[in-house]
Amino acid sequence: MHDQPPLADYQWPTCGCGRQLRQDELGRVACRPCQERADQALRQLLGLDGLYARLATVLTPGRGGDGTIVSTSRTAPLPLRLEPLSLMSRGGVVTVLQTWLVDWHELLGWRYPRWNGGLQQQLDDAVRALRMNLEWAASNHPAFWEFSVEVVALVRQCERQVTGERKERPIAVACPCGATLRVTVSTPGARCYGCDTQYARTQILDLPLASRAA
Ligand SMILES: [Zn+2]
Ligand SMILES: [Zn+2]
Repeated sequence: MHDQPPLADYQWPTCGCGRQLRQDELGRVACRPCQERADQALRQLLGLDGLYARLATVLTPGRGGDGTIVSTSRTAPLPLRLEPLSLMSRGGVVTVLQTWLVDWHELLGWRYPRWNGGLQQQLDDAVRALRMNLEWAASNHPAFWEFSVEVVALVRQCERQVTGERKERPIAVACPCGATLRVTVSTPGARCYGCDTQYARTQILDLPLASRAA
């Protein structure tokens, strides 16, 4: 007796966003729209008129006002807004991008990347290097989805600071399995923690709102 492969169990490969890969995307890790979304996010950061550089323009309170104030010096207290400051500083945007770049270099078997110049130059260099290897990463990097989610979220944060836009409010939707998923309208996709179903963005927004009592 031959055991037939259980056809019903076959799952067409999907991207982390929940979209099934198209025929010409097979063998890739991510779908092209996700690669494009990551590329667009990276481009928004780049250069002196990019979002990263513009964080400096909202450092002092008065524009948006998130209420958090720190002072840089004990003698001449200059109130600064904490959120743009932490995105601009080492440990913020530049460090996140550089950490991914190091990870990619390791996977490619390349030498550790070198950082030159100030933070703006390091940002620009990291963005260029990531964009240059984006096609490779979207095709091969097992964590491309995590990369794109992190970069897109980071760019949204910068954007919110620069434009003074309010934070998106999460909404709760109900998965048929009974689990409640918290998403925002710009959520690119989500996996249900209850039944492991992967939802694309449009599918999430089709789910019923979770009732408050549930
Ligand atoms: Zn995708
Ligand atoms: Zn579920």
